[in-house]
Amino acid sequence: MRTDENYLRELELLDTFRQLGRQVGDEQEVAKPETAKPTAREEPVAVSRPPLQAAKTAAITPITIDPARIARIGAMDWAAVKTESAGCAACGLCKQRKQAVFGVGAESAPWLFVGEGPGAEEDEQGEPFVGQAGRLLDAMLAAAGLQRGREAYIANVVKCRPPGNRTPTLDEAAACAPFLDRQIDLIQPSLIVALGKTAVIRLTGSDASMASMRGSMHRYRDIPVVATYHPAYLLRSLPEKLKGWEDMLFARRQMERLAALQNGK
Ligand code: URA
Repeated sequence: MRTDENYLRELELLDTFRQLGRQVGDEQEVAKPETAKPTAREEPVAVSRPPLQAAKTAAITPITIDPARIARIGAMDWAAVKTESAGCAACGLCKQRKQAVFGVGAESAPWLFVGEGPGAEEDEQGEPFVGQAGRLLDAMLAAAGLQRGREAYIANVVKCRPPGNRTPTLDEAAACAPFLDRQIDLIQPSLIVALGKTAVIRLTGSDASMASMRGSMHRYRDIPVVATYHPAYLLRSLPEKLKGWEDMLFARRQMERLAALQNGK
């Protein structure tokens, strides 16, 4: 795992790290998030849709949950589900998209990273996390010894860009849920990292504060979920970036623990 100077410099964290009096390369010095509650949320939470709440943004077309559509998408293979998402018109987000941004990475990756929704650059290029937040995400992946396209798959809660990069509504997340659910079924990741509140709510059903969700294990169906801040939020301050780095180290340790359990160690 990269806990070296170069990596911290890449994240612009080296000075912060030194100010905190930590030794580069010394993972044991990384503090556990102060407000983490390790036991309360360990129970599996079977969630395929977020809990219903009032949409936070006005003038949103309500979507209809169609069980036949959910079942149909739930039986699709990779090619079919990508084609379906490219032509999807299940919510209003389709109206302004240039293209649906389905996901990128190894289709049997052990790690799945789930963000919120495509921004302008992602809408343009058709790949998640290619903008500034994406560069930080790549650095976070490096913190766990990962590379985009190799051991990790990257997807979003919604596949179409919300206008003005607003947070997708819960209705939009629900309309897109069959796609993310099917991606997860097909990938069968060992661990999911939820990047930001939209992903945490969608995957775990909890809208508890991020501070309380970090540093403990949650569940999407039977798959462990680690929660961390969205890279766009982490970009705003160095101490926050340090938290993202801590969360990646936490995720990495969980992955190693899961692997050891699987190997009967
Ligand atoms: N933010 C996200 O949540 N996803 C992207 O793909 C890009 C930015």
